[in-house]
Amino acid sequence: MNQGKLIVLSAPSGSGKTTLVKHLLNQEEFNLGFSISAASRDPRGEEVHGKDYYFLSLREFKDKIKSDEFLEWEEVYRDNFYGTLKTEVQRLWDSGKHVIFDIDVVGGLDIKRIYPDRTLAIFVKPPSIEELKIRLKKRKTESEDKINMRVAKASTEMATAPQFDAIVTNDDLEKAKVEVSQLVRKFLFK
Ligand code: 5GP
Repeated sequence: MNQGKLIVLSAPSGSGKTTLVKHLLNQEEFNLGFSISAASRDPRGEEVHGKDYYFLSLREFKDKIKSDEFLEWEEVYRDNFYGTLKTEVQRLWDSGKHVIFDIDVVGGLDIKRIYPDRTLAIFVKPPSIEELKIRLKKRKTESEDKINMRVAKASTEMATAPQFDAIVTNDDLEKAKVEVSQLVRKFLFK
């Protein structure tokens, strides 16, 4: 299938977008496949290579930039590169699926720019920066420094929200799940 569509969920880290992406993936009617990004950071917790990310060394990542293998890539944090491999999107389209992305705001807007008509770009907004900090602390997967880095970045990311097709505020998870499902249903089946 070459006419697959793209669903992007972007948000500051800790906004709960991963939970919303999983919720959408579980709905068979949408026929979505998760775009596994490449990342140059180390695996965290239970993360698995080839499932959560393709974990690459910094060197491998930079080589792939040079050989133009990315649809989009971003140095999200210093020396932490993330990107979408062109082969990954093609793999999902070839399997007959629409592609869903869990990526940062810059990458999300890049995808929208590359495929303007085939992309639904949703911004997931945390209730507040304070709440975001609490959530990141609860996750207990990063050091205080890294948490502060993510929180600082969140403020700039929030400013990009109006450029997205839709904004979903994640203060009530169940409500947010219903909202994203409605948006995706309308976009895929309109
Ligand atoms: P984390 O380290 O928490 O898994 O991800 C950090 C940030 O990188 C998140 O905002 C995540 O959405 C973003 N990210 C993950 N994959 C990609 C990608 O392929 N491209 C871009 N631009 N950002 C990504």
